[in-house]
Amino acid sequence: MVAGYQGVDTWIFDLDRTLYTGPFKWERRAFENFFQYVETHYGVSKEKAAELDKVFSQRSFYLKGWLEELPQFDIQHWWDQIDQVDASDVPVCTLTQKRLHDLPGNKVLFTNGHPSHADKFLKHLGLENHFDEVIAIDENDIRQNRFKPNPDIYHEIIKKMKTTAQKCVMFEDNLHNLETAHNLGMGTVLVNQPDCYRHLDYIHNQKDTFTQWLEEHMK
Ligand SMILES: [Mg+2]
Repeated sequence: MVAGYQGVDTWIFDLDRTLYTGPFKWERRAFENFFQYVETHYGVSKEKAAELDKVFSQRSFYLKGWLEELPQFDIQHWWDQIDQVDASDVPVCTLTQKRLHDLPGNKVLFTNGHPSHADKFLKHLGLENHFDEVIAIDENDIRQNRFKPNPDIYHEIIKKMKTTAQKCVMFEDNLHNLETAHNLGMGTVLVNQPDCYRHLDYIHNQKDTFTQWLEEHMK
């Protein structure tokens, strides 16, 4: 029984900053590495890289921006570097493992991360057997704009899961990704964000953490 969510048959989850809580130190390590990486491999100073990355992230998916800025940018090489960043301090939650397992319905992991990142984190979190589908993003997807918040890929998921948007709920820390979900007719839950977004019409529910949502809605 999922209180307040009758008729939902598909739950869609972002990975980073959604299925685990902060303080997200591994992310800081990864992105400090990234700016150093861009300086070393492409001659863009760390400071300039940080500036550009901020612009790209506001506009779209950050790697799409880098591909446009540096057409020779080797995404796979960068992903190999990310995969080596220590993430052993990312909190593992046994309550999340148990309650997510017990959540009735289809579960889809939908991340703008790359496939080996999703594998690494799901294993670390003890969630590798919890999802019916894992949608991660490869280089072709980025080149073809097949990533959140582009609605096309949401439609593909709805079709794949043989459901309708009205029967889906999406969990995210990213506002843009939830806005698309809402516009398509999905339910939305914002997690790991400050309270100031509560008034937005596309935020249907907000919790400090995903675990809190599980605790409150799975009685
Ligand atoms: Mg996220």
